[in-house]
Amino acid sequence: MSMRADLVVIGAGVVGLAIADAWLLRNPSSSVIVLEKESSLAAHASGRNSGVLHAGFYYAPDSLKARLTRQGNAQLREFCREAGVPVRETGKVVVTQSAEELPALQELHRRAVANGVEVELVDEQQLHELEPLARTHGQALWSPTTAVANPVAVVEALAARVVNRGGQLLTGTEVLGAGPGWVRTANHGEISAGHIVNAAGLYADVIAHWFDVGTDYRMLPFKGLYWYGSWQPGRLQRHVYPVPDARNPFLGVHLTVTVDGRAKIGPTAIPALWREDYGGVHGLNAAEGLEIARTYPRFFTSKDHDVAGLIRSELPKYSRKHLVRQAAGLVPSVRVEDFKEKGRVGVRAQLFHLPSRKLEMDFVVEQGEQSTHVLNAVSPGWTSSLAFASYVIDAVMA
Ligand SMILES: Cc1cc2nc3c(=O)[nH]c(=O)nc-3n(C[C@H](O)[C@H](O)[C@H](O)COP(=O)(O)OP(=O)(O)OC[C@H]3O[C@@H](n4cnc5c(N)ncnc54)[C@H](O)[C@@H]3O)c2cc1C
Repeated sequence: MSMRADLVVIGAGVVGLAIADAWLLRNPSSSVIVLEKESSLAAHASGRNSGVLHAGFYYAPDSLKARLTRQGNAQLREFCREAGVPVRETGKVVVTQSAEELPALQELHRRAVANGVEVELVDEQQLHELEPLARTHGQALWSPTTAVANPVAVVEALAARVVNRGGQLLTGTEVLGAGPGWVRTANHGEISAGHIVNAAGLYADVIAHWFDVGTDYRMLPFKGLYWYGSWQPGRLQRHVYPVPDARNPFLGVHLTVTVDGRAKIGPTAIPALWREDYGGVHGLNAAEGLEIARTYPRFFTSKDHDVAGLIRSELPKYSRKHLVRQAAGLVPSVRVEDFKEKGRVGVRAQLFHLPSRKLEMDFVVEQGEQSTHVLNAVSPGWTSSLAFASYVIDAVMA
């Protein structure tokens, strides 16, 4: 007999799980099935990110990211407390690499105030007290509500809560086709659904197109490389970030502290050749690579982003030495020989709008017939996940 559920969620990343969780909280007697193609959880972005609980000050005040990150930060902390997932209260400093970056730093401060996020502009002496290893020119921005947790632990705890609330989680179940009211899987056949949520991360565009939704969009994958330091845990106390280039959606190479106190450099935002391009040939798909190769040139001719600057700055970061030297601009005691252990590579699912040739900077969600499609769950989608899920469920139930 074929299966049926009131809600079928495609993708058990942090976003899909948070949506299933929020739905079950509001509709405790309804049936929910979450379908995940991998046999284990957190195999993609949700388990391959920096684990930084962002505060929400980077984003334009009228954006979804601004609202949902501030709320999501508070909700994720509460969830971690309840689920027993450790959070390290690192805070974060944003430092300038020349006095020319001060206006952009002050703009971040203005955005934080507009977004209702607690931050403080500090001088060089105050920065030294907060993080003795960091260096700035004139001023730095201090964010006390930025923190860190293990992203895999969060996904696993959230999956456990979904199952506890009565949801069914089917791993090793790839969705091969779908349309309004149905999905087709290899191992469970066709499953009928009252409503379908597409939270397939890197493949969200492909699945949305089956529903004739988001056809102007393509996913562009950007690769994030990391290097761990051999430093004594706790030597670096705070996350240290540069002032980002507002024309691009990435934050620039930074130093983060893991939940166990280790220092880590990265991630990059290097154009990837296919969606799951983690190194080696995993997930290599010629047709997919060809389509991505056709889409990148349209991005390269975009006038809204500093594409030349992005390419110039990102491609050399394939070299560990180059990447580590960049980080030394933020923390001068960083030495190439101390950062040799490769971290788990992540790929950002960055949505690209073909007609305008723009990378979407904000979260993008579109509705289709009996379906909702999470098209752009870019960073800080992990921090925002619980607040974002409530926003999506509001839209589904409206
Ligand atoms: C390098 C990097 C660093 C980041 N750093 C941070 C950070 O510090 N803080 C932060 O808040 N955010 C960060 N992010 C962003 C964050 O990781 C994402 O916003 C978030 O993980 C998105 O979650 P998701 O559930 O949409 O995607 P995913 O975790 O990719 O989940 C999608 C799931 O769908 C499954 N799937 C795909 N196709 C199918 C199919 N056909 N059938 C069944 N299942 C399918 C996949 O296997 C996958 O498990 C970072 C991201 C990257 C890549």
